[in-house]
Amino acid sequence: MTACVTGSASGIGAATRRMLEDDGHDVIGVDLRDAEVEADLSTQEGRDSAVAAVVAALGERPLDRLVCCAGLGPTVPPRLIAAVNCFGVVDVLDGLLAAMRDGGTPAAVVIASNSATFAAGDDDSLCDALLGDDRAAALDLAETLPAAQVYGQSKRAVTRAVRRRAQQWGEAGVRLNAVAPGPVDTPLLAAVEASELGAAAAALPIPLGRHASAAEIAGVVGFLLGPASAIVHGSVVFADGGIDAMVLPDRI
Ligand code: NAD
Repeated sequence: MTACVTGSASGIGAATRRMLEDDGHDVIGVDLRDAEVEADLSTQEGRDSAVAAVVAALGERPLDRLVCCAGLGPTVPPRLIAAVNCFGVVDVLDGLLAAMRDGGTPAAVVIASNSATFAAGDDDSLCDALLGDDRAAALDLAETLPAAQVYGQSKRAVTRAVRRRAQQWGEAGVRLNAVAPGPVDTPLLAAVEASELGAAAAALPIPLGRHASAAEIAGVVGFLLGPASAIVHGSVVFADGGIDAMVLPDRI
């Protein structure tokens, strides 16, 4: 089976790549560097060229698995966070759906974040803008907001993007789900810990008392891609040691 993993060069994407390869998949990685497809998902040109290069690498083969891991933490400029974390996911999803229709029990997973809920604030303006028609205006709005809020809103946007595609993707026979991790020990989290956001991140209690490893998140992705989750579609699986349940116990 053939899989595509964005953000395959580091962290959760690299662990997911290893998991899929160990399972016998042929993996087409997409990343800025050290990948089969080297592309910048922050630009429209980069996203278009990434999709075209993945389709070219597939040749006659369908795409059986897609995992969108590429993302940026709240330590880089807000415009970049919004572009990669939202547009870099939805354009890859929409660009590769056609290639997945003929896959063997095809399935896709988006790595969102538990920041999509409690950490994104109550004002959904940026989330709405990111999913709207005027992307330039959405990026301008992102620039006016704190990076941590933009990060949370970008993750809320991709989570909604997954849920909004449930009908279309279901009709196409392709399952699509999201994973919402909490703290995962990767270079992205190390950068947060070293920044002015580090103290707040460290102060947040974690019911299970520890961070996840990238391999643990890859394990959840593996479940969502495989036959044991055949009826799971349009779902968001929190893999955050219980943080979301602790902060919002009565949300459901
Ligand atoms: P990471 O930094 O280890 O890996 C991210 C990868 O994305 C890198 O290889 C990077 O080169 C790639 N990438 C970044 N910008 C790109 C661009 N413009 N074009 C193409 N590739 C690009 O980080 P990670 O922690 O493994 O993050 C993976 C995903 O998990 C991200 O979407 C992140 O938001 C999410 N996440 C991480 C945590 C955490 O605590 N680490 C928690 C929740 C969600």
